[in-house]
Amino acid sequence: MYDENNIFAKILRKEIPCNVVYEDDNVLFFYDIKPLSKIHILGIPKVKAVNFTEFISMSDSNNIKYFFNKIFDIIKDLDLDKTGYRLVTNNGRDANQEVAHFHIHILGGENLGGIR
Ligand code: 5GP
Repeated sequence: MYDENNIFAKILRKEIPCNVVYEDDNVLFFYDIKPLSKIHILGIPKVKAVNFTEFISMSDSNNIKYFFNKIFDIIKDLDLDKTGYRLVTNNGRDANQEVAHFHIHILGGENLGGIR
C-alpha cells in the first residue's frame, strides 16, 4: 500500500526541497541526493504507485507513454542520447528499493561500467 509519508511524496508536496530538473502537472524530475554517476536524475510520475508493477497496473497507456516520453526529453536535453545513459528502476525487496514511490533513475555523464 502507498505510504503518503515516503520521502518522494514529501518532495512532491514541497515539504522537502529538491533540485528540480523538470516539473509539470504529471511528472517531476530532480537530481539524486547521492549521485552514483556524474549525472543522476530521478524521474517520478505524480501517481500513488509504489513501484513499476503498480504504475503499469494502475496507469493507462497514455500516462505511461507520457512519462517515458518525458524521460527521453530529459535525456535529449542533457545530450545523454549522444554519449549513452542507463535507466534503472528498483522494484521491491530483491532490488533493495529504498523509496516506495515509483521512480526511474537516469544515469550518465561518464562511463558507467557494468550493470550495478
Ligand atoms: P531506490 O533504491 O529506491 O531505487 O533509490 C532511491 C534513491 O533516492 C537513492 O538513489 C537515493 O539517493 C535517493 N534519495 C533518497 N532520499 C532522497 C532525498 O531526500 N532527495 C533526493 N533528491 N534523493 C533522495
